[in-house]
Amino acid sequence: MARRKKLYEGKAKILYEGPEPGTFVQYFKDDATAFNAEKKAVIDGKGVLNNRLSEYFMNGLASIGVPTHFIKRLNMREQLIRQVEIIPLEVVVRNIAAGTMSKRLGIAEGTALPRPIIEFYLKDDALGDPIVTEEHIIAFGWASQQDLDDMVALALRVNDFLSGVMLAVGIKLVDFKIEIGRIWENDFQRLIVADEISPDSCRLWDVETGRKLDKDVFRRDLGDLADAYTEVARRLGVLPSNVTHAVKPHVIN
Ligand code: UDP
Repeated sequence: MARRKKLYEGKAKILYEGPEPGTFVQYFKDDATAFNAEKKAVIDGKGVLNNRLSEYFMNGLASIGVPTHFIKRLNMREQLIRQVEIIPLEVVVRNIAAGTMSKRLGIAEGTALPRPIIEFYLKDDALGDPIVTEEHIIAFGWASQQDLDDMVALALRVNDFLSGVMLAVGIKLVDFKIEIGRIWENDFQRLIVADEISPDSCRLWDVETGRKLDKDVFRRDLGDLADAYTEVARRLGVLPSNVTHAVKPHVIN
């Protein structure tokens, strides 16, 4: 297939023009970044695994009626997606305290939360993706009150689905981040799950051992990231046949 026009290159993915209007091709890179891209490496095979895992989760969501941008996987690293207008917010759902919430509020990592907690972060690398309140979101026009209600409902459905899928293979869903996009159908606007769902954007802990199976392996130098992602894919039965692993991360800087 002829190389398509590149529209946007992010830290872990590239978006190309799609074959039809209203579509994009999403390419998964092997690049891993953390701490607002201060730490970087290339993890061989990560893009292939995330392409498969995101396909798996998005298809699962669609099967229970949660709308997503995913149309179909095209090849090892690319998937066809619907063009959406991304709402400039990262929606984080937490079931267990970890990461920035533990740090900010002094809640010990691993503390089970009495109910899922939803947080919004402004997508702005220059500002370091600051946490924002619903009042900021409405006041500055990043989303409407109706959008917020819909985003919370979507995020909780994704949480229920992903928690169940993970628990079935012995993994606790600690927290995750999703991005949400706007589409128009005739005159109606709908919000749908966009971007990706993969171990890059979730915290996943093995139920038995507590082993981390997500990007914290990279953030905290806990071992081979591709091994951890391969383990998630293997348990879910979505391991591509020609991904063998464990290549050591090649540090760029
Ligand atoms: N997350 C993400 N992208 C970001 C920030 C967070 O995918 O830019 C995910 C992260 O992997 C974790 C959840 O959102 O599953 C909560 O992250 P947290 O706020 O604890 O920040 P982090 O420790 O990832 O910096």
